[in-house]
Amino acid sequence: MHDHGPLAWSVVPLDLSADPIALTAALVDIPSESRHETRIADEVEAALREQTAGYEIVRDGDAVLARTNFGLPSRVVLAGHLDTVPVADNLPSRFDGDHLFGCGTSDMKSGDAVFLHLAATVTEPTHDITLVFYDCEEIEASANGLGRIQAQLPDWLQADVAILGEPSGGYIEAGCQGTLRVVITASGTRAHSARSWLGDNAIHKLGAVLDRLSGYDARIVDIDGCTYREGLSAVKIEGGVAGNVIPDAAALTVNFRFAPDRSPDDALAHVRQVFDGLDVHLEQTDVAAGALPGLRNPAAAALVAAADGMVRAKYGWTDVARFAALGIPAVNYGPGDPNMAHRRDERVAVAQITAVTDTLRRYLTT
Ligand SMILES: [Zn+2]
Repeated sequence: MHDHGPLAWSVVPLDLSADPIALTAALVDIPSESRHETRIADEVEAALREQTAGYEIVRDGDAVLARTNFGLPSRVVLAGHLDTVPVADNLPSRFDGDHLFGCGTSDMKSGDAVFLHLAATVTEPTHDITLVFYDCEEIEASANGLGRIQAQLPDWLQADVAILGEPSGGYIEAGCQGTLRVVITASGTRAHSARSWLGDNAIHKLGAVLDRLSGYDARIVDIDGCTYREGLSAVKIEGGVAGNVIPDAAALTVNFRFAPDRSPDDALAHVRQVFDGLDVHLEQTDVAAGALPGLRNPAAAALVAAADGMVRAKYGWTDVARFAALGIPAVNYGPGDPNMAHRRDERVAVAQITAVTDTLRRYLTT
């Protein structure tokens, strides 16, 4: 529980018009581990209410939503989570040469700072803008604030394109690969290994499965200028009874990371085909669809143009897929090296904060 007014938290309110590098540092210095975002949400809400014009603003738990309603031909969502992983003796933030160090500098308060700064300084955008600052991205998916907004305030996520300010090294990272897991089981007949000809060895039958995997030629596919590289890999193997028993069962778990031009059903059909004709049984245990980059959509294409074509495929699964599931092209685009996230020495190159701000300003004003 808290009984502070929005501005009771800090002596100096956030200054959205200040250089987004300074704004990043100010946001980083408000600790906001997941489930403890009330203070930062209060400050973001207060700053948006006082320092932007023409925005409709809504508070939902520890999420803050703001949007223009200028009747422009397209709408862009700028979304960022306000939470961080637990602090690792890396607050307050500190500058060192070209970098700002501290928890959340890369993931993703620099992205939040860029969005907040643009909201305050782009007064005549060419697209309507929806800002979504949300809570609990860094913990279990069921707590994710974006999921709550999707369920309770779905019209706030409607847009022609969604930009998530996650660290992407200044590249537009589009779409994401799907993932499918199958368990391939072989069965046989137990026997004493001294009279092995009386048995039927299930482990040996997996040899043919492994041969197909070693010989598998993974597809590399270009979609909307993004190169996706698929992978079909054994990730677990189980089998065996005892040191003197011909085993009657063995199982191999196989993970297929597939490009988003395949549906989950297509992916399963492909995997079945790879192992076709072998004396094994194949069962799907888990699947998550990928997301197409959707960069041919005009609003997304204009973003790619503004970024001088700095586009690459996204491999991991992110909140981008939530927008893709709503049929909205979505990309990750933010300052910071994704490999720096969650580290004790987390940092962001301040030049990237400036570069992403400049690109998005160009996009939102031309
Ligand atoms: Zn993040």
